[in-house]
Amino acid sequence: MSLIAEIEREHESLIAVRRDIHAHPELAFQETRTADVVAQQLEKWGIEVHRGIGKTGVVGVLHGKKGNGKRSIALRADMDALPMPEHNKFKHASTNPGRMHACGHDGHTTMLLGAAQHLATHRDFEGTVNFIFQPAEEGGNAGARAMIEDGLFDRFPCDEIYGMHNMPGLEAGMLAFRKGPTMASSNRFDIIVRGVGGHAAQPHKAVDSIVIAAEMIGVLQTLISRHKNPIDTAVLTVTQIHAGDAYNVIPHEAVIKGTVRTFSTEVLDAMEDNMRRVAETLPKVHGGSGELQFVRAYPPLVNWDAQTDFAAKVATDVFGASKVELDTPPHGGAEDFSFYLEKVPGCYLFIGNGGGGHRESKYHGMGPCELHNPNYDFNDALLPVGSTYWVKLVQAFFARG
Ligand SMILES: [Zn+2]
Ligand SMILES: [Zn+2]
Repeated sequence: MSLIAEIEREHESLIAVRRDIHAHPELAFQETRTADVVAQQLEKWGIEVHRGIGKTGVVGVLHGKKGNGKRSIALRADMDALPMPEHNKFKHASTNPGRMHACGHDGHTTMLLGAAQHLATHRDFEGTVNFIFQPAEEGGNAGARAMIEDGLFDRFPCDEIYGMHNMPGLEAGMLAFRKGPTMASSNRFDIIVRGVGGHAAQPHKAVDSIVIAAEMIGVLQTLISRHKNPIDTAVLTVTQIHAGDAYNVIPHEAVIKGTVRTFSTEVLDAMEDNMRRVAETLPKVHGGSGELQFVRAYPPLVNWDAQTDFAAKVATDVFGASKVELDTPPHGGAEDFSFYLEKVPGCYLFIGNGGGGHRESKYHGMGPCELHNPNYDFNDALLPVGSTYWVKLVQAFFARG
């Protein structure tokens, strides 16, 4: 592995920044302190800073010193934390009760800062680097969309965009790439089934919304097994069912809620159409009525072929083939980086966070070191790896011409 020596020398200060952010987690669109930390660092290095894009987002703009190159590259990190308590007891544990950096966005932000510092010191390129520090990736809040709607790509034109996320379980420092559909779309639905309420002992005078809802759950599963091409991937999971609150009353209404995941918009369109047909038609068979409310939170994350080839080659040249995984399996989670990739070519990769062995048993909660787990901690060993990758990617992008 060949880390940039200057970045390696900053390792301790990067760890300090990462742990400071970890200790002060902030939820979606409330990342004001984190944005302050980011903006102050960028300004210190002479990077042009723009605040308040997509509410709490920050963009740092760095122009190279070699001529007036028109090309531009964007690197993105997310800044938000999760609404959950932390079980770790180390010094940098969360100081905000019920808030935790359990997805490693503290690390993502710090890796990008490390790269920004190095690139600002040298500016040995021709063109512009846009450092995007995004709010609200978690919970369907779509900070990426908020930044785009706030004019991100109009104000800061980007020819290509790159992102990364740590991945527990993958060997620490391993960089994993995939072309095409890489993460799922995330969508939520409510189906409202309306019958006719009545006495539990007189079902013939009622239309039982619970019986219709029970049948509907089974029919919804046939949309996966019978209506979808078996080659396509989709998940439909019912996660909530609400109806009734008495032993002797047939409830007028039953509500079914859940999530749908797909790796393409075409499959999603078909799923939604089929669900609407079932939701509206099946209750009619029984004399009731039904309605589907379908919310598309994040589209599928689809990596661009050429940019993925390029990024994977940079990673291989820098770290060696043994540290790079091509064709990593798709991930069923969702990520709002997908909104950027709908507008601008780019690539999003996974960086291995290791199996949790980086944690000290004395202070860490020693439960699973998995994303969104209260025992999780970002692996500080990755900081110079991620920063080095970012710098080498930028250099290769401009050298590519
Ligand atoms: Zn997360
Ligand atoms: Zn995350």
